[in-house]
Amino acid sequence: MKLENLTFKGGVHVPHSKELTEKKSLIYANEPSVVYIPLHQHTGAPCEALVNVGDRVKIGQKIAESSAFVSAPIHSSVAGIVKSITNITTPTGMNSACIVIESDGTKEVHESVKPKESLDKLSSKEIISIIKEAGITGMGGAGFPTHVKLSPPPEKKIDTIILNGAECEPFLTADHRLMLEMPEKVVFGLRAIMKALNVEKGFIGVENNKMDAVHALKSVIREDDKIEIVTLKAKYPQGDEKRIINAITGRKVPSGGLPMDVGCVVNNVSTAKAIAEAILEGKPLYERVVTVTGNGIKEPKNIVVKIGTKFQEVIDQCGGFNGTPGKIIMGGPMMGLAQFSTDVPVIKGSGGILVLTEEEALAEKVSPCIKCGKCLEVCPVTLQPLHISAHALKKNFEGAERFNALDCVECGACSFICPAKRPLVESIRFAKREILAKRKKS
Ligand code: SF4
Ligand code: SF4
Repeated sequence: MKLENLTFKGGVHVPHSKELTEKKSLIYANEPSVVYIPLHQHTGAPCEALVNVGDRVKIGQKIAESSAFVSAPIHSSVAGIVKSITNITTPTGMNSACIVIESDGTKEVHESVKPKESLDKLSSKEIISIIKEAGITGMGGAGFPTHVKLSPPPEKKIDTIILNGAECEPFLTADHRLMLEMPEKVVFGLRAIMKALNVEKGFIGVENNKMDAVHALKSVIREDDKIEIVTLKAKYPQGDEKRIINAITGRKVPSGGLPMDVGCVVNNVSTAKAIAEAILEGKPLYERVVTVTGNGIKEPKNIVVKIGTKFQEVIDQCGGFNGTPGKIIMGGPMMGLAQFSTDVPVIKGSGGILVLTEEEALAEKVSPCIKCGKCLEVCPVTLQPLHISAHALKKNFEGAERFNALDCVECGACSFICPAKRPLVESIRFAKREILAKRKKS
């Protein structure tokens, strides 16, 4: 099969708006003077602090962890003194304990940060343990601890690893730049994942609007026939893991199922790069690439930021706001999280800070559904968004459940296409929350 321009059924063509940053090389942010590192940055159990107020810590030192399996330890991103341990609101809207560290500017790295054995010598178990110790979580948004993803139950036989380099969200270019500028690390990370799961076949899926990244990756893999670079049609939500599995392998993850149910594990390209750094340099996940962009930003950039740096500090290093900001979003415009304030820290899952102008952020007038059926055509999960939404708006959550509301991946394609500007994804998200809350109670 030719692995070019593959795709899935449904979806929408959203204006890319990537021109603001796609040609901008990665740069490193200034050393922050203070970092605010939340102890709950991932899906799963929050971590407990391992340090006390007044302690001196170094870059890469483990400062928090949990004994729960679904959790990932947290490391300091600066060298300095722990000033306080206090509660803050994270950009996901969660209230979390947070370690506040004042940098002393020495940039001293902790003794534990040193290269591991070569990949050839590491066993599967050792690779997974390195990933866990490095605190690596999915960097494409969901924030699921990577060591858990790489530990499927024995009855789930994995035969395919996919690296997700689709980056289908408009505006975001962090993964694109990373594939272009660090293709060796991305490919190394994929080889490490393949070894960890004893899998012979790996794919990297990249949308066809990033052909320079495709060429960069191909030049690294050369004759390795175990790895294939696949081009995907630039279509939203091509980066959804079930869509990318379907496009590349033709397999369909069943309703309520997981990629492992069809023999696949999907990781983001940024996660692969973090895995490479954990093995090659012993570097835990304490910094990440953030695309700071939008017409509301003076100098959009792809910038490597230390975890715990406040959004406002990052925005200031991108020239500040271009006029009065209309909306600030962590992530992209389709699935990102709107922020009430820039007084929140960058966390492991912060792939982008998007600032829209007041004009762009104006809410459009909602009108009654004209039954055009466009939302049905574009839904990648083949749901009926108009019916789920109608039930949700009437607070008839049982009705919404009957129309499989829980299968919605909240991609927002239906809301984007709806000519009546109905609040489809918002109401479906609300219904999902209510259905899950009811299930928990019963
Ligand atoms: S119903 Fe859910 S999955 Fe379908 S298009 Fe809307 S947001 Fe996406
Ligand atoms: S796209 Fe909007 S107007 Fe058309 S059927 Fe769906 S909800 Fe109704």
